[in-house]
Amino acid sequence: MTAASYQVDVLVIGGGNAALCAAFAAREQGASVLIVEKSVQALRGGNSRHTRNLRCAHDIPSGTLVESYTAEQYWQDLLRVTGGATNEDLARLLIEESADIRQWMEQRGAQFQPALAGTLSLAHSNAFFLGGGRALLNRYYEHAQQLGIKVWYEAQVLELDVQHGQFESAKVSLQVDVNGVAQKQSCEVRAQQLIVASGGYQSNIAWLREAWGEAADNFLIRGTGQNTGEMLAALDAAGAITHGDPKACHAVAIDARAPKFDGGIVTRLDCIPFGVVVNTLGERFYDEGEDIWPKRYAIWGSLVAEQPKQLAYAVFDATAARDFMPSVYPALQAPSLAGLAQQLEVPQTEFLATLDAYNAAVQPGDFDPTTLDGCTTQGLTPAKSHWARPIAKPPFYAYPLRCGITFTYLGVAVDAQARVLFAPVDGAGKVDLNERPSNIFAAGEIMAGNILGRGYLAGIGMTIGAVFGRLAGTAAGAALRG
Ligand SMILES: Cc1cc2nc3c(=O)[nH]c(=O)nc-3n(C[C@H](O)[C@H](O)[C@H](O)COP(=O)(O)OP(=O)(O)OC[C@H]3O[C@@H](n4cnc5c(N)ncnc54)[C@H](O)[C@@H]3O)c2cc1C
Repeated sequence: MTAASYQVDVLVIGGGNAALCAAFAAREQGASVLIVEKSVQALRGGNSRHTRNLRCAHDIPSGTLVESYTAEQYWQDLLRVTGGATNEDLARLLIEESADIRQWMEQRGAQFQPALAGTLSLAHSNAFFLGGGRALLNRYYEHAQQLGIKVWYEAQVLELDVQHGQFESAKVSLQVDVNGVAQKQSCEVRAQQLIVASGGYQSNIAWLREAWGEAADNFLIRGTGQNTGEMLAALDAAGAITHGDPKACHAVAIDARAPKFDGGIVTRLDCIPFGVVVNTLGERFYDEGEDIWPKRYAIWGSLVAEQPKQLAYAVFDATAARDFMPSVYPALQAPSLAGLAQQLEVPQTEFLATLDAYNAAVQPGDFDPTTLDGCTTQGLTPAKSHWARPIAKPPFYAYPLRCGITFTYLGVAVDAQARVLFAPVDGAGKVDLNERPSNIFAAGEIMAGNILGRGYLAGIGMTIGAVFGRLAGTAAGAALRG
């Protein structure tokens, strides 16, 4: 590709799950489709390549999904985790469309496998990708090639030309081969319809700093470093309605030794319910056993982010060492709690006092990791409500924890076709969408905040991308036919 301009029916920005689903749906309606992916080919697929499953409603066992997970259960779960901070119409649409999305994905190359053990007990609600997200993406890209969808790698959309809510063209920076030498070239891509599936802005640390202050410098980004939010900023500047709390995001506690970007799922720590967590003052700060882990794991990123130095430690003993899936890094260990403290950035006296107080407060009970058991503390603040056992059997272990951001929720508002909403007509008659609806659609993380005002349900990220990608591609394709 060496031309300085290019014309296509539908331009899709991004190369993850949402982008591919959108591209399929548009292409199947006869549109010519170009996918512009910022990443190199080997790392294509953004955060989607790190995933394992998606959440689907189903009334009876279906494919690899066991039992049932009705639309109403899905809705109630979503209501609970978001505390009602969700667009009900869009959320119900998502759930309804999730019922056949797995089969739709399968027809386009996706393969599924029975649920993995030890992954948040999701067999009844979540369908697991055979081989994980990378394998899913590989199958998708093969299918895209079969459909004649064009893909540009190492191609970053820098700017959007949007006039009165209408997309005109995009300025794309891409690598081209000129006589065997790789060079950067700028290309203007014109398209009748635009689908933006470029993820959140979690990899833009300067932007995170605006909301979190200097604490953001200590955050780790679990997925791709490519989701830096320039398309969200471009749509915002063009008058798109944005909404969401800039601090709202999916963030989990991950091993502090993980790389700054792209550490992936193997850095997550699921040991928290089985021990205690202390900050760098040697103090506990939250109930580690408040609720079952699938409902709590996604709050721990923010909890750690709010601690001094944005650092904490999950501490447990030999009794708990085999109760969870470990991180890819070995736990720090010592034959005594005092010896463990020496390896941590904590004051030893306070650390030992915290552990003593905890051990003294633990009540007898029958430990059961599969349910809200009766193992609790008494007279301790904060309490540990379930799975409280003394931390007394050597060796003793600790994992250092940092906030690992998965994706941000601030994004563009969309309608039920995934069409981006623009601010209504202003005094100067800037955008009149009644006369001509916008030709810009959004899918995936960039609009996930419509569903997730806060909180998270495991597997819903991929469902949002697949469902709204399909809706966006379908609507963009239909718009072409008038
Ligand atoms: C470690 C990890 C595990 C996860 N596990 C799960 C799971 O099991 N289930 C689940 O539902 N969710 C999971 N998630 C969340 C899930 O990854 C996201 O919700 C989902 O992948 C978002 O899809 P997307 O297509 O919107 O974004 P992405 O897959 O991130 O794709 C965005 C794409 O946009 C490209 N891009 C960005 N800016 C530009 C630009 N200017 N020009 C061109 N291209 C651009 C990027 O290169 C990237 O390819 C996980 C996330 C992580 C990090």
